[in-house]
Amino acid sequence: MKLLIALGGNAMTGVDGGARPADQQGAIAVAMDAVARLIIDGHQVVLTHGNGPQVGNLLVKNELAASVVPPVPLDWCGAQTQATIGFVTACELERALGAHAADHPVSVIVTRTVVDATDSGFTHPTKPIGRYVSAHQAADMMRHGQVWEDRGERGWRRVVASPDPLEVLETPTIRRLVEGGHVVVAAGGGGIPVVRETEADQSGAGPVHGVEAVIDKDLTAALLAKSLDVDALIIATDVDAAAIGWGTPQQRSIGEVTVSQMRELVAAGHFGSGSMGPKVEAALRFVEAGGPRSIITSLERIGEAVQRQAGTSVVPDPS
Ligand code: ADP
Ligand code: MG
Repeated sequence: MKLLIALGGNAMTGVDGGARPADQQGAIAVAMDAVARLIIDGHQVVLTHGNGPQVGNLLVKNELAASVVPPVPLDWCGAQTQATIGFVTACELERALGAHAADHPVSVIVTRTVVDATDSGFTHPTKPIGRYVSAHQAADMMRHGQVWEDRGERGWRRVVASPDPLEVLETPTIRRLVEGGHVVVAAGGGGIPVVRETEADQSGAGPVHGVEAVIDKDLTAALLAKSLDVDALIIATDVDAAAIGWGTPQQRSIGEVTVSQMRELVAAGHFGSGSMGPKVEAALRFVEAGGPRSIITSLERIGEAVQRQAGTSVVPDPS
């Protein structure tokens, strides 16, 4: 099967939440062991990953060093984290494959995702990113043109646009690499957000530039999964399945559900808006666009989930 696997934050952070380079490398190594097993079983794999904590750390460095080194925009932070996480991922995946005497080329693609320049988030940003700072520090950054919000006792926090992903620009390249037998790491952090400067020409080309925004990595994964016609979108996080009644005594894991059943659970408010909600939405979008199956499960269970023995599966409504 052709699989697109979206790796969550726990694939890049130590078990104790540690984010030192060695912690991140160790977590990625564990994740790549699981991914390597799927590749050895004969599956074609495209990987995408989150970058929230890593971008958060770059923003802190930007703030602290602003008077010495000019701060870089959020799209540059996205590009930097794609490269770093992609580099470590490639090394660890090759190591894991090599341990099984398997040899597949691994390619990391710096990936841009087109968003709508007229998205309301650019005039009224709502997505909080980075750490809380004092009113004084926030005022400093606002002078650089950033938007910060007073969040009460915890301090001030930066807010940015979080537009919907419309198109992954490197899709044709990714497709060719997959066809050529490569394991591809792409669209990290949802892709670097860019807007078109003019209407795309007939070949889909035309100038773009980066914008200060964040894109939900799971929504981009769903879009890329559809463009590549994969057999399953797998969203690997830190819980074995999505659940109803999350955090209540009635909590119950969801197994296989149809799109309509899952839409009803969404409407009933079962999924956290900043956490499981976007994963469920991504799972739904892929299947609603014609994809055969989306799976939400933990990294440890991706092998079982592909064999339909674990996780939450979203499948099309019976026709
Ligand atoms: P990742 O970092 O892997 O992208 P998140 O931490 O954003 O993932 O989201 C996964 C988390 O969502 C789980 O650890 C859990 O705490 C939370 N969550 C919220 N609602 C649910 C639910 N209904 N079922 C399962 N997990 C849920
Ligand atoms: Mg998380």
